[in-house]
Amino acid sequence: MSRTILVTGGAGYIGSHTCKSLHARGIEPVCYDNLVYGHREFVQWGPFEEGDITDIDRLCEVFEKYQPDALMHFAAYAYVGESVTDPMRYYHNNVHGSMTLLNAMRQCGIKQIIFSSTCATYGAPKTIPIPDDHMQEPVNPYGRSKLVIEHMLRDYATAYGIHACSLRYFNAAGSDPDGELGEWHEPETHLIPNVLLAAAGKRASITVFGNDYDTQDGTCVRDYIHVTDLAEAHVLALDALAAGPGLKTYNLGNERGYSVKDIIDAAREICGGDIPVEIGPRRAGDPPVLIADAGKAKSELSWQPKYDSLDAIIRTAWNWFKK
Ligand code: UDP
Repeated sequence: MSRTILVTGGAGYIGSHTCKSLHARGIEPVCYDNLVYGHREFVQWGPFEEGDITDIDRLCEVFEKYQPDALMHFAAYAYVGESVTDPMRYYHNNVHGSMTLLNAMRQCGIKQIIFSSTCATYGAPKTIPIPDDHMQEPVNPYGRSKLVIEHMLRDYATAYGIHACSLRYFNAAGSDPDGELGEWHEPETHLIPNVLLAAAGKRASITVFGNDYDTQDGTCVRDYIHVTDLAEAHVLALDALAAGPGLKTYNLGNERGYSVKDIIDAAREICGGDIPVEIGPRRAGDPPVLIADAGKAKSELSWQPKYDSLDAIIRTAWNWFKK
């Protein structure tokens, strides 16, 4: 293996898929995860080190052991609703944890980091599609915690010569096309896995959070991007880090929007069963439409999503789900 990358949150959904992509390119991923939400069985492509990102001694111990060339930082809490009711968890784990990680990097002389950011840092967008220089005004503590980290990365980059790249994901979805990994959250709050649970009869119905938005069919529109395409973007971003100190930011999305109703209709077709639907109230903090302008990632990183059809996204998710 030519290079070693330390992957925080490598036992989670996007982190584990990225470890697989790194390994496929001959890069060794060292998974660092506290297993609060991660799954030990998802760590299949490199060594595992249990630890928390708020523990600087443990971080430095692992950095000394593996001498990673760069970090990929996925470890975070990511439940929007919970961030509203319990913001302390988000500021502690996401903000304080990321600061501890950056301080450990400084202490141990590691200069490069790729950070998992989110379209939630934009809040309610003024323009669609959303370019990556759009104003960032997050509307919930989760988005704010990620934005604070972006500011921190920029300041650390300027002052301490850190090479940083922030990848702002739109709606991560789908599962490893080989069926070795998948989307598995506890509790599950996301649309596609919950639709599949309803299709499999594991939940009575799917509740649509609002059908009175100013969209084509009244339900919210999102840009769903396959998790393997996200993983590939991380591998490509490693090259962008070499350019020098500073923070680079990229949107990662398919640049196409699908409504909640589109997702349910596509899942009905693919899963072949009935999916009972209930209409519920709007969920607080949901903008009506989020669609990426990912032009910068495409031109600067040569990134091109492969699993870009809704069919590929739902079919890979369903294949894994059935297992
Ligand atoms: N959604 C829904 N019912 C659910 C879960 C989600 O109608 O059980 C909607 C949600 O309001 C949003 C879209 O589906 O408009 C995608 O939500 P998800 O939680 O998957 O991702 P988010 O957009 O919050 O990152």
